[in-house]
Amino acid sequence: MGEGPRMDVPTRFPPHETAWFFDIDGTLAEMMPAPEMVQVGPEVTERLTMLFGISQGALAIVSGRALASIDALLAPLVLPASGQHGAQRRAADGAVREAGAATASLAVARQRIAAWVGDSPSIRAEDKGHAIAIHYRAAPEFADAVRGFARDLADADHNLRAQPGKMVVEILDAAHDKGAAIRTFLAEPPFRGRRPVFIGDDLGDEPGFEAVNRAGGVSIKVGDGPTAAQYRLPDVHAVHAWLAALVA
Ligand SMILES: [Mg+2]
Repeated sequence: MGEGPRMDVPTRFPPHETAWFFDIDGTLAEMMPAPEMVQVGPEVTERLTMLFGISQGALAIVSGRALASIDALLAPLVLPASGQHGAQRRAADGAVREAGAATASLAVARQRIAAWVGDSPSIRAEDKGHAIAIHYRAAPEFADAVRGFARDLADADHNLRAQPGKMVVEILDAAHDKGAAIRTFLAEPPFRGRRPVFIGDDLGDEPGFEAVNRAGGVSIKVGDGPTAAQYRLPDVHAVHAWLAALVA
């Protein structure tokens, strides 16, 4: 048996030497049948607020959601954040940068996806602007078909990539991922010079784990499955307990 991630996730970090990066869905909040149903509990936003203060602002959300959706989930909290797997980023100074390189490619993909999904009751396309998600939560038996379609779409255009996730595949600008988003934050104050800690649960978080590992940081995977992360927490409840311990 190979050596998997360790379960003894540290809870003590030097407050002024640590940079925090959090995924939301499946990490801070339980997955739901539809992304609109997900909620972040008030105790979670309270602890994020505390950690943001303790770390002097070196805390960012790194999500597949659009920035507007991140803000709605964490309201009234507005944090530095990367949205749509790195295609959008709000820096610590509040400046928002949006990717535009793959706009034409995404427009073509948008039409092909709409035509392919059609009026299927069990497969749903979600247009996030810089990413198009194809959800098949209502019909897991279509996993291979959806993944195959998305892979073909991405293979046909080098500006695009397909990012499989939990009951979803996203078509994205190939230039961005969560690892690049974390590296960009780490090049700017107040993140710069700090040791990154990143926690996430899905395949799209793996580039983030790899970036954090290379930066000498701490990577934490939530739930089962192969991962590049150094540590593992079993579920969202364990994340909440860990977050409570961090600010205790
Ligand atoms: Mg997630």
